[in-house]
Amino acid sequence: MIEPTLNSLYQQLILEHYRKPRNRAELPEHTVEVRMYNPVCGDEIRLQLRVDGDRIAEAKFIGQGCSISQAAVSMMTVKLQGATLAEADALVSQFINLMHGDEAAARDRTLGDLRALQGVSKFPVRIKCALLGFDALQEALKQSRLEAGAQ
Ligand code: ZN
Repeated sequence: MIEPTLNSLYQQLILEHYRKPRNRAELPEHTVEVRMYNPVCGDEIRLQLRVDGDRIAEAKFIGQGCSISQAAVSMMTVKLQGATLAEADALVSQFINLMHGDEAAARDRTLGDLRALQGVSKFPVRIKCALLGFDALQEALKQSRLEAGAQ
């Protein structure tokens, strides 16, 4: 599949995360695990979180697929270490805004390296790739809250 033409600096950042993913490892002490698959592109992500109270104490993933899917989840896990569940919700919403071409989201420095993916918003097929990790995160947050509610 042809990679979309992105700003070259952003492209480098995406490739850097793809080649040297952050937090790509098993997290044996995880409290929640979610698998997501993108059949359009063949991307796979298994996201593991260790949730402690209302915080994500640790976030790791195992995955394979295109550079956009793997760089996005790598960048996402960087932002998740120590984040509250509410901050994780806000990150998901703001990243979805970014994928919808929202200008304010594109300027939002709290997204960190994730801003490098803003050019993906012009390529609808690839948005699914970028969102795969965030789909997993949303499901993991939902499961964590259900478990916390059940205790
Ligand atoms: Zn993909």
